[in-house]
Amino acid sequence: KVVFFWFRRELRLEDNVGLFHALESDYAVIPLFIFDTAILDSLAKNDARVTFIHQTLNKINTDLNVVKSSLLVKNGETLAVWKSLFEEFDIQGVFYNKDYEPYAIKRDQKITDLAKKNNAEVYAFKDQVIFEELEITKADGLPYTIYTPFKNKWLDKFKENGAFPGYSEKKQFSKFYPSNFKFPTLEDIGFEESKIVVKSHNLTKISNYGETRDFPALDSTSYLSPHLRFGTVSTRKLVIWANKKNAVFLSELIWREFFMQILFNFPKVMTDNFKSAYDGIKWRNNEAEFKKWCKGETGYPMVDAGMRQLNETGYMHNRVRMVVASFLCKHLLIQWQWGEAYFAEKLLDYDLSANVGNWQWAAGTGCDAAPYFRVFNPEIQLKKFDGKGVYIRQWIPEFDLGYSEPMVEHAMARERAIATYKEGIVK
Ligand code: FAD
Repeated sequence: KVVFFWFRRELRLEDNVGLFHALESDYAVIPLFIFDTAILDSLAKNDARVTFIHQTLNKINTDLNVVKSSLLVKNGETLAVWKSLFEEFDIQGVFYNKDYEPYAIKRDQKITDLAKKNNAEVYAFKDQVIFEELEITKADGLPYTIYTPFKNKWLDKFKENGAFPGYSEKKQFSKFYPSNFKFPTLEDIGFEESKIVVKSHNLTKISNYGETRDFPALDSTSYLSPHLRFGTVSTRKLVIWANKKNAVFLSELIWREFFMQILFNFPKVMTDNFKSAYDGIKWRNNEAEFKKWCKGETGYPMVDAGMRQLNETGYMHNRVRMVVASFLCKHLLIQWQWGEAYFAEKLLDYDLSANVGNWQWAAGTGCDAAPYFRVFNPEIQLKKFDGKGVYIRQWIPEFDLGYSEPMVEHAMARERAIATYKEGIVK
């Protein structure tokens, strides 16, 4: 008999709750990763995230080889893969860390049902957040939909919680199942290597985070987002560190958890407005204008620099994300779902909960969103946050030669946006 630890979005061997518990069990542990074709089939063949996952798994496999074990990597539809694993192995239990996205919840339910049929236990753990699901609620037991009281409650509970146990697996590594599974190449799973690379995270950049984080040219954010997305860092370790060092930074990590619990408790936000009062807005949804926005050809330097940074590197600074998102929804009156889908395709750190949460925030349709009449002026944003044009010149080399005309005039677009929202909102 064996147990499985199924890696999904916590691609690390240390401080991994589910893995720790698997190794504590009475059975040898087979570590598994499945390249899920239901997700992969919609991606470009050189998707940078697939390259990153593959490289990360390769490192994990190398570490496992040291203890004469190896990672079992499968490629296919998850239920079919699990059916064949249940035929091949005598499985006592399946361990994994929970994932709060609607697709993952459905998928995990199917695997749980299959395990039951095969008399195997399923053990699901909280790993990627400090507080999950309905752990932080209002006095009436309902989920928070406003950030600040959520954050206050979160901080109180964090204090009460005391120290977290360290989930160090190293001492238990002999519990891995002895094996020499073949590690696939990217080509074996139908992909090719991307030129875009995930940067290492860097906590030294955030020494003055509260003052510098909004200025893209200062390059003073942590670049943790893809690492949090794929679990190449431990959220617990990071939060414990942030709690001692930097309250502003900690509150950003709490935003991440806020949007995760919103998605879990209100899964409709994935596709629909959180506030249905906004369902009647008559979006212009002009495809030619959308293409200009995607390419970074709006004539507004801050918007264009951001979109080019995204297209070239898979990353965009948060302040600039706010500006480009507001521009799409308000200046162009294109519904947030189009922008959200474009970001989902391009962002290395794409995370459904944060992406949808922030897009709905920018569109004004979200739970704790920017009011509809607040229309960012992209020129003023540029003056405030990149006054010397250092960031924009990095992404728009032709800038000094005279920049193209804005595709839409700000004052007109602002009035049009406010009027359209006013007309569409159900009182
Ligand atoms: P830092 O400033 O160093 O922040 C540290 C961490 O805090 C981030 O890695 C992230 O996990 C968390 N965080 C910071 N700001 C936010 C926020 N507003 N919402 C949720 N978590 C936050 N972030 C994603 O991780 N995935 C997304 O798909 C995503 N889409 C976004 C879409 C829009 C329109 C906007 C405005 C923001 C989006 N963000 C998203 C949030 C934020 O822009 C990124 O997390 C941040 O820019 C990542 O860079 P960093 O790690 O250097 O950030």
